[in-house]
Amino acid sequence: QIQRALRSLSIPLERLHIMKGHMIQDMCKGLSRQTHAQAKVRMLPTYLCSTPNGTEKGSFLVVELCQSQVRILLVTLFGDGNMSPHMVYKIFDLPEGITQGEGEALFDFIAQCVSQFLAETFSSDTSKPEERLPLGFVFPFTCQQTQLDKAELLSWSKGFNCSGVVGEDVVKLLQTAINRQQLCHVDVVALMNDTVGTMMTCSTEGRPCEVAIVADKGSNCCFMAEAYLVETTDETSGRMCVNTEWGCFGDDGTLNDVFTPYDESVDVESYNPGEKRFEKMVGTLYLGEIVRHALIALAAEKAIFVGVNIAVLKEKGVFTMQHIMDIINNEDGISDVKRILEVLGLQPTERDCGRVQQICRAVVGRASTLHATGLAAILSYMCQTRDLETLMVNVGVEGELYTGYPRFEEILMSVSRLLSPECMATLLPSKDGSGRGAAMVTAVALRLAALRREVNEVLSPLRLSRSDLEKVQALMRQEMDQGLGKETNANASVRMLPTYVSHTPDGTERGDFLALDLGGTNFRVLVVHVTEEGISMASEIYVIPAAIMQGTGEALFDHIIDCIIDFQTKQNLVTDTLPLGFTFSFPCKQMGLDKALLLTWTKGFSASGCVGQDVVQLLREAARRKQHLGMQVVALVNDTVGTMMACGYDDPKCEIGLIVGTGTNACYMEEMKNVGTVEGDQGRMCINMEWGAFGDNGCLDHIFTHFDKVVDETTINPGKQRFEKLISGMYLGEIVRQVLLVMTEKQLLFQGKLTPKLQTRDIFKTKFLSTIEVSNGLALRQIRAILSELEIDASFEDSVLLREVCQTVSLRAAQLCAAGLAAVVEKMRENQGVDQLSVTVGVDGTLYKLHPRFSDNLQKTLKDLAPNCNVSFLLSEDGSGKGAALVAAVASRAANAME
Ligand code: ADP
Ligand code: MG
Repeated sequence: QIQRALRSLSIPLERLHIMKGHMIQDMCKGLSRQTHAQAKVRMLPTYLCSTPNGTEKGSFLVVELCQSQVRILLVTLFGDGNMSPHMVYKIFDLPEGITQGEGEALFDFIAQCVSQFLAETFSSDTSKPEERLPLGFVFPFTCQQTQLDKAELLSWSKGFNCSGVVGEDVVKLLQTAINRQQLCHVDVVALMNDTVGTMMTCSTEGRPCEVAIVADKGSNCCFMAEAYLVETTDETSGRMCVNTEWGCFGDDGTLNDVFTPYDESVDVESYNPGEKRFEKMVGTLYLGEIVRHALIALAAEKAIFVGVNIAVLKEKGVFTMQHIMDIINNEDGISDVKRILEVLGLQPTERDCGRVQQICRAVVGRASTLHATGLAAILSYMCQTRDLETLMVNVGVEGELYTGYPRFEEILMSVSRLLSPECMATLLPSKDGSGRGAAMVTAVALRLAALRREVNEVLSPLRLSRSDLEKVQALMRQEMDQGLGKETNANASVRMLPTYVSHTPDGTERGDFLALDLGGTNFRVLVVHVTEEGISMASEIYVIPAAIMQGTGEALFDHIIDCIIDFQTKQNLVTDTLPLGFTFSFPCKQMGLDKALLLTWTKGFSASGCVGQDVVQLLREAARRKQHLGMQVVALVNDTVGTMMACGYDDPKCEIGLIVGTGTNACYMEEMKNVGTVEGDQGRMCINMEWGAFGDNGCLDHIFTHFDKVVDETTINPGKQRFEKLISGMYLGEIVRQVLLVMTEKQLLFQGKLTPKLQTRDIFKTKFLSTIEVSNGLALRQIRAILSELEIDASFEDSVLLREVCQTVSLRAAQLCAAGLAAVVEKMRENQGVDQLSVTVGVDGTLYKLHPRFSDNLQKTLKDLAPNCNVSFLLSEDGSGKGAALVAAVASRAANAME
């Protein structure tokens, strides 16, 4: 029978594995918005988003409400890594009956203690502190916290039952009581339970503690969870400490099969039967009771105390944790055990003594094993949600079971290691967790609040209000009108260049076309087959040697023709004369669809004799020189136009083209009667806005920040393309870098340490923003990788702040782009004279395509700024190739129609 009893108290490993799984499930249930209300493991958010980093300093008051006492502490931190805080404290006994009386009386008593403590502590000091004194409140009851300093009491426990407190904000109750004591310089800034205090106190410099277990009368655990997983709060970035309240694990029956009859008896006799099932197996308040019931049951089975009067065991609470400790910590001999049992009023034989000892060991061992199982669940969960292969973490521990039972630590470590081999925990004993920890919590809260204020100060110029955006939209509209007007065009920053493209595709285009793409990353020749079944293409990339790029114009265009001939030969296209569309991504003044004067070379080209010349003519002349008859140049196309045309083939509503890549630009279909710079009022024409230059006349100066000015000054074209420099891929990374420099100087980031790499221009790539901004928190590891490439040693908080900087910069870019587009779609709506416009934007550009939020932010803002326009976005595939061919196709379709 003894063996059976001992076996029932020992839980096999595979059962522990299952239990760990249940615990993880219950944790997820507690964190999820949908299931939180029914969850037994409550997973309460604490609004504590950081652990101490050692820089905290100042004096902090702590009020700790305990079972029968109030403890008031004054903790002074020196910013020395929290190695040696200075503490003074005083303990006040709670008056008889106050725990059952009125809430107001309880809080008034606490406030009086604070008042008395301050009077005594500062009496010798003639200069009573004039500064505000922040206070942390350790309140070890279950609360629904909605801020660090706002917590509604859900229910009393531990013998407390004051009226008028449940459902109230206990921080407010304490602050009000303190104010009644005329202690107006004392601010209650944080409330926490003792578990959180334990975690905080174990953190010292370079050794953050992210899990804490309190193995005491009750049992609880808290840990730093990824904030986005805590769905019961709005916090999504960084981490937040979650108070698991794991004592309630098993209240839905998941522990039933490991419950012994002894546990059942303990539960039935408790004041809350059916609740806190896990706690009743592991809390030291209950371990003596479990032993007592086991002994009663075994005595009834005549396995122990045969012929002994065990009436004394019938009394609840006679067998305490202290008895258990005394019995099991007695390795040599059982004479002490005998004495302890005799003091209790039992007359045990020697064999009885041995058996009692075995039962005690089994009960305490089980409690330790169950703690280990809970810990394993927490560790595995952290490891998974942080997307780590292995987790190294420090675990703070405190409580009677830990300090009283020498094997607790060994069992906790070995069993959790068996259950979660991927995790490496290091135990840190907590010294006075709740007192010192509460001061830490308070200090960290103040540090974070100060940091937040300074961060907001740096970032606020980059944050645009709704009215800022409306103003940008109105300005864009104004510049568009100026650019379109014959007289005003010369002074407009948005040049509104006519393209001589007057139709978008209607799907009836047919034929084979050649396309050239010059001015992007590669020079390409393409053939595009437009058939009833759709469009198919073949293309080849050709190299333009630097010598040719910088040689004569003749040589350059001869080389281009050679490439075309080579391509047509390879593609068996030599016998036909194919229409050719030419995507030429350099600034041109277009005089006709096939007539465009080069204004200036960019991107490393400098071929002589081209600027001011008609580029189409130069290409035609080269063809003549080479006697190549296989092509006929019909159109020269800007890449925005190509994008619009390529998307227009799939969606006839596509009448806008947008590029957000290295640069940014847009085009759209305008009514000819509004285009003052081209003769004729009939029909429509695509206008290449060249909106990147928006603001070059100073109209956007009010939104440029210090960062934008620095970035602009270091470009090859200062003062030019000002709108583009707020939006496009060539600049966003550099803007972020400028913000990082300022934040580091202000000691808000990287501990104020600037690395030479970070001070290098263009080192921070725009593609980093995409990696960093991936929303689900898993990218933190990649953030670290990026930063270590920049030789920056970043803390977790640095990573979170870095992400905020990136988000701010990319959000502004998307919003500005949306303000520009809003002006465009609203103008189109006016042109058509409709209440509601439905239109599609064809988009190209790697920033738009690959950034995780840019397109969403753009579309959301556009919807907001132009609510009467229903705008869809269509990604362009190979706009410059396909688009150029389609311009050629549409031109020949239109020409055929004329004939
Ligand atoms: P282009 O505009 O020259 O035709 P792209 O459309 O490919 O070329 O855009 C290139 C720009 O996209 C680069 O300036 C780079 O900053 C940016 N970029 C590249 N990769 C990413 C990415 N993953 N996320 C955001 N931007 C990117
Ligand atoms: Mg491009």
